[in-house]
Amino acid sequence: MEAIRSINLGEKISNWYVENGRQNLPWRYSISPYRVWISEVMLQQTQVNTAIAYFERFMAKYPDLQTIKNATEDDIYNLWSGLGYYRRANYIFQAKELIHNKFRGEMPDNYDELISLPGVGRSTAGAILSIAFNKPYPILDANVKKVISRIFFKKDFEEKVFWNLSEDILDKKNIFNFQQGVMDLGSQLCLPKNPKCNLCPVNNNCQSNLRREFPLLSKKATKRRKEFLEFQLIEKNQKYFMTKEHNLGYWKNLWIPPVRRLDHQKAEIIHHLSHRTLNMNFKISSKKPKNVEGKWFDKKELALIAIPKPIFNRILSND
Ligand code: SF4
Repeated sequence: MEAIRSINLGEKISNWYVENGRQNLPWRYSISPYRVWISEVMLQQTQVNTAIAYFERFMAKYPDLQTIKNATEDDIYNLWSGLGYYRRANYIFQAKELIHNKFRGEMPDNYDELISLPGVGRSTAGAILSIAFNKPYPILDANVKKVISRIFFKKDFEEKVFWNLSEDILDKKNIFNFQQGVMDLGSQLCLPKNPKCNLCPVNNNCQSNLRREFPLLSKKATKRRKEFLEFQLIEKNQKYFMTKEHNLGYWKNLWIPPVRRLDHQKAEIIHHLSHRTLNMNFKISSKKPKNVEGKWFDKKELALIAIPKPIFNRILSND
């Protein structure tokens, strides 16, 4: 650790950020704990370029904890529509309820309370504490992991070791610039193939660069279960019948056409969830099934409610 401090790794990364970082990302200005929280949850499973528009839309409607106070779960899901991993929208709903009921409507500024919020893990708590409250807490997202594995030439991910290293390289005097810098370094320079080491502020201290061998942390292979779904695309007078009544076990609280599981079928659309591969087909109909509660929406209305993306795209293409 002393060796790391003596070469000022953290400071080099902070200084590089000031000169080269992506300071115009919308969550990097008008900083508030709330904005950092929402952006971190969005970025957990979403690429920066996709998250920008969603973040701006979210902030236009709910710029702070006060405005989101009375939002319903549906309101938040609607803003999340198309972003995927909808559990995050549910976590935001639950967390803002807790913040208002238990923490007087203010984002906690300490680790134990933050980590008690649904959807806030150690890295998200670290991001909120360091970026919004200027406290020296480490982050360990995918980019930080990659940078650490490269600087210290670690071929395998070991949670405790990586957290310790993330803490050791912190530039505690410039915590904001450091955290943004290390994430940018990971996404802009420390690329999986052909990293741009000649531009990197820590190239003289990076063991991978010195060896010219660049480890890639192996991703856990995800085993996906196959499912076969038949949707009834019910259209009448240019409106579509959608329901939230289903027992799929995922897409809870999203609007979908009535659906049934089949044993096997040729798929019109194949869609991957984190642990499932969905083989989807659509049967066109104009008759609503009995005993299924739901609502009718025209295409304009469909754009404003929460629908899984492959279903939304399929309905849009239905002329
Ligand atoms: S020197 Fe190269 S491999 Fe090392 S951190 Fe920088 S970009 Fe990554």
